[in-house]
Amino acid sequence: MKKLATATLVLLMMAVWAAGQGTVTKPSDFFGFEPGSDRNLFTYEKLIGYLQKVEGESPRIKLEEIGHSPEGRPMYIAFISSEANIGNLDRLKEINRDLALNPDLEPRALEEMVEEGRTFVLATLSMHSTEVGPSQSAPLIAYDFATTADEKKLEWLDNMIYMMVPCHNPDGMDMVVNNYLKHVGTKYEGASLPRVYHKYVGHDNNRDFVILTQDDNRAIARIYNQTWFPQVMVEKHQMGSTGTRYFVPPNHDPIAENVPAGIFHWSGVFGQHMATDMTADGLAGVSQHYLFDDYWPGSTETCIWKNVIGFLTEAASARGATPIYIEPTELSVRGKGLAEYKKGVNMLEPWEGGWWRLGDIVAYEISSTMSVIKTASLYREDILRFRNRMCVEQVEKGKSEAPYYYIMPLEQHDQGELVNLVNLMMEHGISVFTLESDHLLDSKLYRKGDVVIPLAQPFRPFIKEVMETQEYPERHYTPGGELIKPYDITSWSLPLHRSVTSREINTRCTGLEDKLKPVTGEYTLAGQVDTDSPVMVLPVGSNESFRAAFLALEKGLKVERLKADHEVEGKVFGQGSFVVYRDPKKEQAWKAVREELPFDPGYILDKRAIPAEPVAIPRIALVETYFHDMDAGWTRYLFDTYHVPFEVLHPGDLGKTGLTDKYDVILFPDSDKSILMTGKQKSGDDYYLGTYHPDYVKGIGKEGMEKLMAFSNGGGIIIAWGRSARLFEGVMKITGKDEDESEEFQLPFRDISTQLSKEGLYVPGSLMKINIAKGHPLTLGMPRQIGVFSRGRPVFQTGIPVFDTDRRVVATYPEKEVLLSGYSAHDEKLGNKAAMIWLRKGKGQFVFYGFGPQFRASTQASYKLLFNAILLERKKG
Ligand SMILES: [Zn+2]
Repeated sequence: MKKLATATLVLLMMAVWAAGQGTVTKPSDFFGFEPGSDRNLFTYEKLIGYLQKVEGESPRIKLEEIGHSPEGRPMYIAFISSEANIGNLDRLKEINRDLALNPDLEPRALEEMVEEGRTFVLATLSMHSTEVGPSQSAPLIAYDFATTADEKKLEWLDNMIYMMVPCHNPDGMDMVVNNYLKHVGTKYEGASLPRVYHKYVGHDNNRDFVILTQDDNRAIARIYNQTWFPQVMVEKHQMGSTGTRYFVPPNHDPIAENVPAGIFHWSGVFGQHMATDMTADGLAGVSQHYLFDDYWPGSTETCIWKNVIGFLTEAASARGATPIYIEPTELSVRGKGLAEYKKGVNMLEPWEGGWWRLGDIVAYEISSTMSVIKTASLYREDILRFRNRMCVEQVEKGKSEAPYYYIMPLEQHDQGELVNLVNLMMEHGISVFTLESDHLLDSKLYRKGDVVIPLAQPFRPFIKEVMETQEYPERHYTPGGELIKPYDITSWSLPLHRSVTSREINTRCTGLEDKLKPVTGEYTLAGQVDTDSPVMVLPVGSNESFRAAFLALEKGLKVERLKADHEVEGKVFGQGSFVVYRDPKKEQAWKAVREELPFDPGYILDKRAIPAEPVAIPRIALVETYFHDMDAGWTRYLFDTYHVPFEVLHPGDLGKTGLTDKYDVILFPDSDKSILMTGKQKSGDDYYLGTYHPDYVKGIGKEGMEKLMAFSNGGGIIIAWGRSARLFEGVMKITGKDEDESEEFQLPFRDISTQLSKEGLYVPGSLMKINIAKGHPLTLGMPRQIGVFSRGRPVFQTGIPVFDTDRRVVATYPEKEVLLSGYSAHDEKLGNKAAMIWLRKGKGQFVFYGFGPQFRASTQASYKLLFNAILLERKKG
């Protein structure tokens, strides 16, 4: 009888739902086209508009604002689940937090939570904006679940909550969609966006999840670090057009040493279900164990170091919403995991070629999403138990296995970076402590105020990963065979990249643990001195001093730099330290500068003359190519956040404008020489036009180079790093009014990295040691040795200068053990070679770096080498 009643009720409810379907707006009615149809794309605002409409029409979807993109667009999670779960989100969120962070749950309490809890699956869509398919699928998935009467799907919704971030990168989505719509129907349909698809960093937004610099990424990371603690996370991507149709986990080797086996097992379970379900849906070409490895943190998937079952999927791309036809002979594989495009265990049913369109990508996306949701529902209890077991095991490991703590002394060469590191770790959901009193451990004295990070924490794998020195997990394809090369960089150690001293402690000490005081709220060392002093001195060793000095200049305060070391209140401030003068008319500016500082500056109370010279902010031109120039984007980000004003010049602009009167500094971030010079990519002897509208295929050219040399000849400063330094190698020419006034010259340097790599040098993106020359304006505030981010090129060989040229080697690789963190082969080839050089021709100065001084805003140790360069004194004529 009871059974019959329940069955009747279910039927009745289904009928109600079926009747209710008409009230949910269909995507095609809202957008005016079916999402995924040829040559149609909607913008971010439209996407959110649709989801908000469905939220009003269906109790199965609820939107929550989670932050803003760098350009200020609001970002959301769309929770999709049963009405009951949507109504119970607050309680379910509490359960998630307990499962994730509480290692002391009683078995019964745990089982009750497993019974009551639901699997949370976070899906982040289309962070790479040219990978349009996932976000364009979102309305179809939302509509399906809002209206479905399918018993299976309703059961999934009872068991799990799908947390869809409908677009991870709203700014980029609008840039790419608007660019597509501008060209659709014209000859240049499908033309590439002539800039990065993000305010700053483009594709590198998926390299930011250790350092968390970009607002959209911080909003996403907060979901798994601090607020919702989902158990499963998938980031949705697209890859090239001519390879496999879809990638699902498991990934290929190498994998992260610090991530527990269970995480990989579980991502494999999700992958295996996807491969099975998608193939059953008639979708061919699903690949696994292919191309994508899993050893490096920095992607959205960095949550796998925080006990989340995280993975990515990748669909083959069309050209935006324009279909492409792929000849079977054009199908190929690359990277690792598949040696030929043929049936094999890593691709059981190859796709045969033919038309490939956005609609296909959408079909694959929907199928893979359904499978993930099904799997999360099917294994609900196991996944919830697994999440808490990870927490228990990691906390236990932190108590029973070295290392036990990382201790960072309060006294640091750059104290501001210690403060920034602590605040970053806390943003990652890590508990950080300070010592309440001095403590002797392993015959070393640690001081009151020293920072301690214990490893007995749920996110232990993350702590270890970002605090230790990296050793690339070397694996080979066959015994004794070829090394499996890294997909991305190999170093991310937060202390080493910042030159912050950190000690790994391998002895457990409860006496030390008794003296730990948790850091709560924002960590700062400022606010201990209160004074009415009219002058502050900012130590040259700290990046934050440069930030504050640039802010003071921006706000019109008088700023000077010490000409020699100078003692203030018993503390010595090194040459180059900034002196900022209070101005009664600009009290707000003074206050702003003080608030910007994470430590107290020195204050000068008397009016004795200070041995200092004035500083002015130079007029900077930053050269950014149209070719998705991420390194230039990161440089813009760095300058914006350090209050350094600049103008962007594109290579084609250099010939059109008078550089000499407009700028003091022209800066070339790492870029390909042929793109800079011609606007085209060169491979061997061939140039490639790529897929840019002809308006953007323009380089510096002969005219631009003439202007650039005139700029230098007039006393301008040229700064370049990476491949861009090659622009200035070989014979250069200053063009005068006639041939008599023209002059050919050669700067006394060359790049020898090609030869070194022939001899076996291989640096895939690692931290290398350099020794810093003393007594040069470029090295003010630098310690004796730091680690710099290198790809093994360029490497400089200087020569004896002739006529009015000159040179100085500013930084040198040490003779031995050049590698500091990550991977390299034959790093001894770099021994004693020049890593950074200063050159002069007449009044013109050049600063070249063999490394990225600001690489992905993650190499704080070398920032000062860049800031000092823009502050170099111009030689006046
Ligand atoms: Zn991608």
